[in-house]
Amino acid sequence: MSELALELHRSVPRYLAQRTIGRRVPGLLAGPISSLKLVHREAPDVPAEGWARVRPRLSGICGSDLATVAGEASFYFSALVSMPFVPGHEVVGELITDVDGLAAGQRVVLDPVLGCAARGIASLCEPCARGDHGLCERLTGGHVAAGLQTGYCADTGGGWSGALVAHCSQLHVVPDGLGDESALMTEPLACAIHAVRRANVPPDARVLVAGAGTVGLLTIAALREFSEAGPVVAVAKHGHQAALARAYGATEVVPPAEALGAVRRATRAFRLHPDRSAPFLLGGADVAFECAGSRGSLDLALRATRARGRVVLAGMPVRADLSPAWFRELEVVGAYSGAGAFDDALGLLADSRIGELVSAAYPLSRWREALDHALSAGRLGSVKIAFDPTKE
Ligand SMILES: [Zn+2]
Repeated sequence: MSELALELHRSVPRYLAQRTIGRRVPGLLAGPISSLKLVHREAPDVPAEGWARVRPRLSGICGSDLATVAGEASFYFSALVSMPFVPGHEVVGELITDVDGLAAGQRVVLDPVLGCAARGIASLCEPCARGDHGLCERLTGGHVAAGLQTGYCADTGGGWSGALVAHCSQLHVVPDGLGDESALMTEPLACAIHAVRRANVPPDARVLVAGAGTVGLLTIAALREFSEAGPVVAVAKHGHQAALARAYGATEVVPPAEALGAVRRATRAFRLHPDRSAPFLLGGADVAFECAGSRGSLDLALRATRARGRVVLAGMPVRADLSPAWFRELEVVGAYSGAGAFDDALGLLADSRIGELVSAAYPLSRWREALDHALSAGRLGSVKIAFDPTKE
């Protein structure tokens, strides 16, 4: 059956052009040089036993998707994808076919990681064997082509389309009372819960959350639910983000220019002003979360954390000056997937209003508008932008 899908094609000259021009020119991201194409394509085939066909009802646009489409993602990831792929790893959908005791029509959310179980690799890698499939070491083998997740694999399809295939080990049932918007937030919330666990936050710790888009807001919510963090200083660029950050549990919310000063006051640290470089603290937050995927935000997290404190990379990282990590003996900790935290995420979503963060859902045919909106979400008073492939 033919389905509408947004496909990302490899085009190194274009990719390099996009890296150069990137996000500096609004509208160009989704313009004529984009390697993203709206196509009619055959729906992907079920590759093996235990796989189901899934019709996406909503699929989110994530910061990592924007970085990938804009050609800003590191070439590091090029070995972990197969082209062309359909993006979209934040997915709530319904089963088109029965699988593993679940009937067609059942609503599900997708754990997008394509680990050993999904790939049909019988002798599990060490991380998969101990339940950490987010750290799978066999991301290029087995039943489907290379791809760290659904949404980066040529064989599975992705959420930005009318149909994808998923292995039963990737599926989590959506409770009947939970709306599609809330369910869509399961994967990003699972990532935030995982980031909080990776931070190993001590009781009463003084925490900095740098960024108040989807990742930052969900990190604040997860900190309040799954840690005993003390005061949380959040950095927000826009008014609606600040109001949400407070509602989700931040103690103080400041714009980026005031962030270092706020942490200094909250922790009685000393501020130093180096030549030709941003100021930094001696003393500072016990734990900082980088939640914007930006250089400024990562520099802030590194410069506002006390000696031997922890900096958690919750956003997709960019280059930064690692001098503070060396000099202050920081623990820089990655937090990549939500694997292992989906049940906790679904539990928290049932008792929260996190579904309110879904600000708009576009049909696939309006993909240029959708990507522009996602790129400017903060400025436009929005948080999470999604595709609704059922709207075609
Ligand atoms: Zn594995």
